[in-house]
Amino acid sequence: MENRIQGIHHITAIAGDAKRNFDFYTKTMGLRFIKRTVNFDDPQTYHFYFGDEQGTPGSILTFFPWGSAVRQGRRGAGMATEIGYSVPEGSLDFWVKRFEDHNVIYNKPAEKFGEKYLTFLDPDGLKLELIVPSSTDERKPFESGDVTAGVATRGFYNSTLTLNNIEGTARVLTDIFGYKQIAKEGNRFRYATDAIGTANIIDLVELPTEQRGLGANGTIHHVAFRVKDDAAQMDIRKKIVEAGLNITPQIDRNYFHSLYFREPGGVLFEIATDNPGFTVDEPLEELGKNLKLPAQYEPMRKKIEAHLAPLD
Ligand code: ZN
Repeated sequence: MENRIQGIHHITAIAGDAKRNFDFYTKTMGLRFIKRTVNFDDPQTYHFYFGDEQGTPGSILTFFPWGSAVRQGRRGAGMATEIGYSVPEGSLDFWVKRFEDHNVIYNKPAEKFGEKYLTFLDPDGLKLELIVPSSTDERKPFESGDVTAGVATRGFYNSTLTLNNIEGTARVLTDIFGYKQIAKEGNRFRYATDAIGTANIIDLVELPTEQRGLGANGTIHHVAFRVKDDAAQMDIRKKIVEAGLNITPQIDRNYFHSLYFREPGGVLFEIATDNPGFTVDEPLEELGKNLKLPAQYEPMRKKIEAHLAPLD
């Protein structure tokens, strides 16, 4: 792989009740729970990671469950507003029936850019889509219960950002990340990178008079883009600094190394490395089974555990 951005690494959103969030993504959606840890900046709060079997970059959806007492967020400008998963051809009927059976709010399947998709909301009102890509997605699905290989999500297809003006954001995508505009439908501008074949699409929706979003329960906190290693990450960091944007130093997130910056349209972007991955502190078959804490919080384990809601 080159030192380019390799599509989406993970997407992080805010949820209300932890158990409800855990149940929805592991049971209704059939994702694998790949890490049970805490918010490294606020260890009283869980940080959940859901993904495919290994937690491959491009499949990782993470949540900070802030609890149901926290107010509801609102989608709006300056925010990532949709998460698109890739699903196989012919699977949407299964998902419509499943959403009916599980009381999930959804719209009837529609089409954009010539591809069928199904929009739905998670229990906190987070907006997601299941999209059938025009070319087959070869990624290996994680199978769970009746969410079998013929219907299971393959990982991310895209993410959509809502902006008052797309210009500055588009420039980051094209000039720094190596994306190109590949299509446009109305006010939706589609960008993709050819550095990788999956999770490589970002849609920019331009709504000049849209109110700014409110970041709280049911909204996306940030979108993380993927680089193969620390050297590639530092190359991208240099370009971001040269573009005059403020960016953090590298932060160790245990499972990857991160940089954060706010792109000109207001969306929080992260650059995350593939290394070291989720098996750094537990074996593959154990992923998600035990509460994992970074070294600095291990001495407080008992106190932290007492604050966290049980999941089983
Ligand atoms: Zn992140």
